[in-house]
Amino acid sequence: MTRRYVVQDDSALTRRKGKSREREPKCEPNLLFFSDYESGNLLRVKPLNDGIEYEISLRPDTLADQYRNWFYFSCLGSKPNQRVVFSVVNFSKQRSLYRDKMTPLVRSRSKPHLGWTRLPPRNCFYYKSSRHGGQYLLSFVFTFDGGENEVYDFAYSFPYPYTKLQKYLDGLQRACCCGKPDQSFTLERSLLCRTNQMRRVDLVEIRTGGGSRHPLVHLGSGAKPARSKRIGAGGSKSAAAARSSKGRQERPVVAVTGRVHPGETPASFVIQGLLDFCTSDQEDAKHLRQCADIVVVPMLNPDGVFLGNYRTDSTGVDLNRRWDCPSKEMEPSLYWTKELLRKIDGEDGRRLDIFIDVHAHSTCKRSFMFCNPPKSLEISALGSEPEMRERERDYKTMDALRKVLIFLEFLDMYMLEFSLQTCRWDIDSHKVGSARRALEKTLPETLCYTFEASFFHDIAGFSQADASGQHEQATQGAVNTEKGYIRMGEQLGRALSHYYRSLERF
Ligand SMILES: [Zn+2]
Repeated sequence: MTRRYVVQDDSALTRRKGKSREREPKCEPNLLFFSDYESGNLLRVKPLNDGIEYEISLRPDTLADQYRNWFYFSCLGSKPNQRVVFSVVNFSKQRSLYRDKMTPLVRSRSKPHLGWTRLPPRNCFYYKSSRHGGQYLLSFVFTFDGGENEVYDFAYSFPYPYTKLQKYLDGLQRACCCGKPDQSFTLERSLLCRTNQMRRVDLVEIRTGGGSRHPLVHLGSGAKPARSKRIGAGGSKSAAAARSSKGRQERPVVAVTGRVHPGETPASFVIQGLLDFCTSDQEDAKHLRQCADIVVVPMLNPDGVFLGNYRTDSTGVDLNRRWDCPSKEMEPSLYWTKELLRKIDGEDGRRLDIFIDVHAHSTCKRSFMFCNPPKSLEISALGSEPEMRERERDYKTMDALRKVLIFLEFLDMYMLEFSLQTCRWDIDSHKVGSARRALEKTLPETLCYTFEASFFHDIAGFSQADASGQHEQATQGAVNTEKGYIRMGEQLGRALSHYYRSLERF
């Protein structure tokens, strides 16, 4: 969050210096800028060309100058039909979906029913500017249609602040706990821990039947972990639930985390859609609840979200490089999430089956997964024939690959925006501290994924199967919106349901 704004007006200086300059300004820069609210980001504004153009500088992430991507600011004081060019001049990333038809969002506060709308592509330009030393600039033209008291908000993508999550979770809790007394499942929301700036890190668990089961309720606030009781409250055991690598009945748990990177706002809409689906009356949702418990930590970095950062927390740290050995004091949300997942997997009667960390990608035009490649398998107890060993190794490798890919195939089937072909095996050395890579070491039996929701999908003309297997044509208007990202979360849940259904056949 930026608590101050600065408008640099160097037109007077220019006029003093340039005696030869005869032309007087046509009008004075008249717009007033501010961003002193949750998730706001704006550093400086410089009017040019007599107030026809405004150069926007983004505030770097807290204590991390290298990250400048997210913007969210407001202005007022416009004249009716005033036309202005805004140019964002200090992005830290050069590659951007702004060169692939993505455009910024605008909202007029006097027309809340309209919500956020994307600026038309014909009014937006992403280009290399020689005037700015070869830096890529985003310039967009906007015509104000209200009076001088009307406030307009501009943003990189749909904002999803910390308070919005709190309100959403409050509503979800009310709907699940108070609205339906005959509820066949339990939704439990608890405080996993508090951040350095004392914001809540929420934990949501959805399971069939009643009673508290997860072992770390309020652990972050000092309580000792309460060893959970044996599972068994309600819910029929499916074939998937009975499957166990430890040779005993264990109920699968699917864990989902999000918003470790605060500027990646589509991740929050996806998680909202997943929670909506998991608590719905849809048949696929009921089936998923029968098969698995769902554990969600929807916002791992609420401080960074509140401050309007793109990638770091309040101390300038990219938390998704700290999962290997998170500090209880400095990275409490990571520490307690990791503890939670370890405890769940170690519980009698449960195992952590799938882990998905939800992000958003700023350069890829389709949503996809980063996956951990199966480890090279040590086969020691096989026959001495090299050919036999080779064949056995191939079979085991194929089996491990199939295990990773089968869920992705369901995602590809149900989520319009997802592309199986775009998914990547990832062993980059600089990502060893990411959630997916670090948890693989702690929980080798768990399928660990990083889901990357594209900030802007270019998918006109694609089709997908809906819940009934019918194919529907993609329309660009239905994607890249708040509803579109929420629907992606619902499809993530549907794919999970069908994944477990497929396991029942074996
Ligand atoms: Zn990310």
